[in-house]
Amino acid sequence: MSANLSFNNGGKSTVQTGLFINNKFQPALDGKTFGVVNPATGEEIAQVSEASAKDIDVAVKAARKAYDEVWGERTPAAQRGKLLMKLADLVEKHNDELASIESLDNGKAFSIASSFDVPSVAANLRYFGGWADKNTGQTIEVDSSADFHYTRHEPIGVCGQIIPWNFPILMFAWKIAPALATGNTVVLKTAEQTPLSALKMAELIVEAGFPPGVVNIVSGFGPVAGAAISAHMDIDKVAFTGSTLVGRNVMKAAASSNLKKVTLELGGKSPVIVFGDADLDQAVGWAAFGIYFNHGQCCCAGSRVFVEESAYDEFMQKLSAKVKQVQGMVGDAFDKNTFQGPQVSQLQFDRIMAHIESGKKDGATLVSGGARHGDKGYFIEPTIFTDVKPDAKIAQEEIFGPVLVVSKFTDEADLLKKAHDTMYGLAASVHTLNIKKGISVAHKLKAGTGINQHNQLTPQVPFGGYKASGIGREMGQYALTNYTNVKAVHLALDKQAPI
Ligand code: NAP
Ligand code: MG
Repeated sequence: MSANLSFNNGGKSTVQTGLFINNKFQPALDGKTFGVVNPATGEEIAQVSEASAKDIDVAVKAARKAYDEVWGERTPAAQRGKLLMKLADLVEKHNDELASIESLDNGKAFSIASSFDVPSVAANLRYFGGWADKNTGQTIEVDSSADFHYTRHEPIGVCGQIIPWNFPILMFAWKIAPALATGNTVVLKTAEQTPLSALKMAELIVEAGFPPGVVNIVSGFGPVAGAAISAHMDIDKVAFTGSTLVGRNVMKAAASSNLKKVTLELGGKSPVIVFGDADLDQAVGWAAFGIYFNHGQCCCAGSRVFVEESAYDEFMQKLSAKVKQVQGMVGDAFDKNTFQGPQVSQLQFDRIMAHIESGKKDGATLVSGGARHGDKGYFIEPTIFTDVKPDAKIAQEEIFGPVLVVSKFTDEADLLKKAHDTMYGLAASVHTLNIKKGISVAHKLKAGTGINQHNQLTPQVPFGGYKASGIGREMGQYALTNYTNVKAVHLALDKQAPI
């Protein structure tokens, strides 16, 4: 089964749409398929196989066999690294094709997918490929000279990975790269809205030379295929990115099955903090980028802006002008001028519009946007609310759309209280020309923090949540700890048994 895709930039691609198990595309056992939609038009572009719990079982068996027989510590770490590097090369070679598939499936601007998402995939694969033979344990000195102790960083085994639709191909890379570098095998479920770019990656995984069963990719639905992964008795670890609600369910399923290890990358309601002494033109630019990048569908989106009272009026004037500019850059993914594309689905569109209505009902002031953009697809105008009550839904809940809430603060104590007034702690940014103040506030915030920038992620630097935003870190050296068991080995050099 395959889909022939045509892109508005004149390109074409064919994607195999079966379940990818043991390096082969195969139909679901019960033959079920589901439709994939272009969010710019609402039209169906592909039918893909739909995994049931039985298919997950087949994929887990393939991953287990590969782990036991060829991968894990049976493939030298340097060779695992080499395969990841080879895959990175192939991603670069197919950059525009992968970016076009991503843009068609997810709605994001081709100019951004081709210059950010897909190059970041190659960068992550290469970064973790480099780590494969460098993730060594420690030798540990202890009190007794009769002892020698050391640790090994061993792969965990079969990893279940469940990814969302906001950065489909990049989340795919964030998940598989550290898992494979450290010697694990993978059963990965893509999001039902955006399965296509990972399926194209499957072809490149075969071409790169990964042995069958090392990476298995299933399309399907969360409550069936996702739940089967979370509860599977022969999956050793589950890594999930998505909503906090589902993250809790994944953790519960892990706890009540085999206590598989869990890492979660969940939602956010990240503050963008603008002090009166900031470069306001820059701060406005980062605030707009913070919320409108990827149409607000970023877990680290700067969805709450706090501006020091003294700068508030000038900031709002400049922000209104900036939003007009963004308004002119909403459109089809393949239009060169597009910065903000459609929301990913009718469901997400409806959720965001419901949040906008609730903002109005709760008495907030709608400063910009608030309506559908155009007459087809799932486009929403870049939106700004002010005068929002701290307990209003739009101040507390992750909207995951182009909706910004702007408020004032008086001093640092007031700011920290407001910034921390949500269950989340995923990201933040502080904007000030006083670098001491910037660092001091960054250290007090319960979130990874940008100073004079927002939404800037790079493979070398870890990313992850405080509070209800998650467990564990992705990217950077820290991500390796999510995919390894530390084994201690206690060697007696010159020791008699105690009895
Ligand atoms: P979601 O349901 O949490 O989806 C994320 C992934 O989890 C998808 O692959 C999904 O499958 C799967 N899933 C759903 N239910 C599951 C279950 N019971 N067990 C295991 N896996 C399951 O997110 P959503 O419904 O697409 O979006 C809802 C909200 O989540 C958004 O509005 C946003 O606030 C938040 N979100 C956050 C992120 C992030 O990066 N932190 C990403 C996406 C969404 P399906 O493909 O069937 O959905
Ligand atoms: Mg869902």
